[in-house]
Amino acid sequence: MIAALLLALLPLQERPPVRVHAVSDISQEFSFYMDGRFHTQYLKGHARTVQNWGSLHRFDFSNTNLLVLVEGDPHVPYSQASLDHVVQYVEAGGTLLLMADGGDPMPPGAELAARFGARLDAQRAAAPARFASSERFAAGQPADAGIEYRGGRVFEIGLAWTPLVVDAKSEPILARRSFGKGIVILGSRGLFGHQPDAKDPINAAWVTPLLVESAVTKPIDPKRAHEGAFAEHKRELGPLTLEYTDGTQPYADSIVREYELVRPHLVALTGVEPAPGMIKNFLILPTGGGGFSSGERIAIAAWWGDYPKQRYPMVELISHEAGHSWVLPHPEPLWNEPIATYLGILVGQRLEMPEARQELERQLAAGRRHDPDFTKLNPLAEDAPRDLVWGKSYFVFEELERRHGPGVLAKYFRTKRALVPKELREYTMDDCVAVWSKACETDLYPFFRSLAFPVEAGKSKLGP
Ligand SMILES: [Zn+2]
Repeated sequence: MIAALLLALLPLQERPPVRVHAVSDISQEFSFYMDGRFHTQYLKGHARTVQNWGSLHRFDFSNTNLLVLVEGDPHVPYSQASLDHVVQYVEAGGTLLLMADGGDPMPPGAELAARFGARLDAQRAAAPARFASSERFAAGQPADAGIEYRGGRVFEIGLAWTPLVVDAKSEPILARRSFGKGIVILGSRGLFGHQPDAKDPINAAWVTPLLVESAVTKPIDPKRAHEGAFAEHKRELGPLTLEYTDGTQPYADSIVREYELVRPHLVALTGVEPAPGMIKNFLILPTGGGGFSSGERIAIAAWWGDYPKQRYPMVELISHEAGHSWVLPHPEPLWNEPIATYLGILVGQRLEMPEARQELERQLAAGRRHDPDFTKLNPLAEDAPRDLVWGKSYFVFEELERRHGPGVLAKYFRTKRALVPKELREYTMDDCVAVWSKACETDLYPFFRSLAFPVEAGKSKLGP
């Protein structure tokens, strides 16, 4: 700790040069773990690590000496070009760590392992794991280092390979070989950490020296740039810029078609075009679950909700994310997220998808468990449960449509655009009810107060 602190205080030119330039790949399969956590656990202080988001075969490995890959997802197979590119990188001296287990179906990583003479197997490893030899396999490996293994599958290796860690039946779960001028390390995924918060750096005592000592056999130039690569394709899509790779292109193509289907419904529902200047980047992630939103970029899972087999979850997600562009420049108070999903539900209903109604009913019921007729609990309270906020929001939208519709949301959004000055700093629930009242030509403060919203016309900055 103190050594690290002192090191941080040294001027740049006096620091020992970094000898490892690592690349963590998230183009074949995205995970938060591979987006920085692997580095934190095993390479911090030893390597400069960048992420590869773009198609693997396009990456310039000339100044890289450690490539970290996971087994991948069958939705994005390795392209021949990427397989060749990785093999050439190793032949030229690079070190590859492939963390992979066999399975049914076999992950794409099996094909890459095969290129190096190893075969992933579906056979489960038997506990306990042990070192294959009493000799240390890395100079920096402590003599008393143990093994933590979360389980996985064994693999078959040819004679060129050296087993490093084996299961109870002496089948390999970590092995190394030279290939051309480079080194390949194949390991069962359960020998490495997993947590997105990087709190499980298992086996770091021997993983780190193994990786570093292998990687430095290919010298890199620490003065030359070592930069990550981003998804290489872009397509303009209404208020969104779609970003994708060769591997996610099939999903991007059909997501474009879904968006083109969704967009006119969003215009009809909101009565307006998306707010100008609110372009968002919409990155297609090679994963089935999870996504993130950061600044102007929204990232969504390519096979979200089992897309394209199931279409509704994707239609709802696209409507939700695009819907934010219709709502801006003033985010909604309280229900900025619920209103985006509600737009998705309404689009789903207009597309006659039965799941849309089910989603609406499910959330209303979840809200009613906290507030059976939605008149008791203040949804703006700090401790308001999430289901109450979402359920009550949907209830308000449905009630307003029933009382003042049809097309009450369009009336609201048109009035909001006309009435709310761009400069307005904070758009509050008092302001929001002022807009609703104007849109419906009715004083709606009493209605909102009857649903336990503590709103007052006098507090709105938008006048009577
Ligand atoms: Zn959102």
